[in-house]
Amino acid sequence: MTIITEDQVKELRGAGVAVPDVNETCIGCSACVAIAGEVFELNDEGLSEVVLKDNYDNLDVDDAIMACPVDAISWTE
Ligand code: SF4
Repeated sequence: MTIITEDQVKELRGAGVAVPDVNETCIGCSACVAIAGEVFELNDEGLSEVVLKDNYDNLDVDDAIMACPVDAISWTE
């Protein structure tokens, strides 16, 4: 899977697609990967990043947001 770039986030948002974001407070617990493995993966540093998708509907992102112990995940506006 391909980790999304900032340019790709901007492009998707410009097309009206809500895109999840993981901020720097991630501690790499992998809960989001277990819940929404199509959306999140751990990078080489063991921290979660968002994978490039056409859209993020119906992919358990809200469940991952609720499960994250450090509130690192949000929808970009
Ligand atoms: S659930 Fe939160 S802390 Fe755990 S890996 Fe995902 S973003 Fe990081």
